[in-house]
Amino acid sequence: MKVTDHIAQAKDTLVSFEILPPLKGKTINTIYNHLDPLMEFKPSFINVTYHRSETMFKKKTDGTFDKVEVRKRPGTVAICAAIKNHYNVDTVPHLICGGFTKRDTEDALIDLSFLGIDNVLVLRGDAAKNEANFEPEPNGHAYAVDLLKQVVNMKNGIYLEEDIKNGGKADFCIGTAGYPEKHFEAPNLNTDLLFLKAKVDAGADYIMTQMFFDNQKFFDFVKACREMGIDVPIIPGLKPLTNKKQLTVLPKVFHVDIPTDLSNAVMKAKTDEEVEQIGTEWLIQQSKELKKFGVPVLHYYTLGKPRVIYDVVKEIR
Ligand code: FAD
Repeated sequence: MKVTDHIAQAKDTLVSFEILPPLKGKTINTIYNHLDPLMEFKPSFINVTYHRSETMFKKKTDGTFDKVEVRKRPGTVAICAAIKNHYNVDTVPHLICGGFTKRDTEDALIDLSFLGIDNVLVLRGDAAKNEANFEPEPNGHAYAVDLLKQVVNMKNGIYLEEDIKNGGKADFCIGTAGYPEKHFEAPNLNTDLLFLKAKVDAGADYIMTQMFFDNQKFFDFVKACREMGIDVPIIPGLKPLTNKKQLTVLPKVFHVDIPTDLSNAVMKAKTDEEVEQIGTEWLIQQSKELKKFGVPVLHYYTLGKPRVIYDVVKEIR
């Protein structure tokens, strides 16, 4: 079932989760062990992130180096199919421009369609680790909006090969990313919102946001979107703060602010357990306020912390 159908049929705020594929070498049981306790909350859907390959240099015995492309977290599409099969829950694979030609994308969409997965979250992806800026593949997409248009084409049975007439229609529900605190490359929030509107006008069915720790930033973002004529559902992405290092890592990696009250409390904490407790309480309050605001779904990034997410969702249900 599509994310938008879940929202349309909901009687209360829905809950969804996001997971990372496990590191190469681990089994699918890593995923099931992570998700098993969370399934008690009957999530409407589960997102699985996509991680592009990294260029690595492996030293050879003669002292020279071999350049190898390694995918540390492969398996997004297969994990989505496995979760759907194992728990009978809808899944949302993330699909990125980075590392994909248009043909790779088409093949991935065909796989998803054959597997009965009817949701995708369409993203550009970040620059590869060895690149300063995002570089599309030759014959790939430069922006999420371009990838989105390819997905919309497949919804209409239009494939890359022009001689395919009346092609099978892959009816995906398409999500896109939004940034309450602005995407870090955008010159200003207004310009970023114009590009977000272009993605919605091109066919995005809903927006899923970057994490944020200050709800006011989300409320302002929703208001700005509505004023601009963006009228699709906006789903807040939520992450718990669970260790002191995140006070610097989260702003650096995700370009989000940590509110002073939260950072002060975390800095005063003496143990990791205390930080986790502070982060859990903060997320519970955030979730309660967002629920009251009327968000359609509370979407939790579980990233290695399913127990914290369990405690939060237990409290707000
Ligand atoms: P875009 O919408 O293409 O925007 C990128 C930048 O370009 C923005 O600054 C925008 O303002 C600007 N822009 C957009 N269109 C144009 C245009 N036509 N001309 C000029 N400028 C333009 N990354 C992963 O690798 N894997 C994941 O699984 C993943 N999941 C994510 C989930 C969520 C909910 C979010 C919020 C992000 C996720 N990301 C993921 C990170 C994401 O790929 C990065 O933030 C990336 O830098 C931007 O992706 P985007 O889809 O927002 O790009």
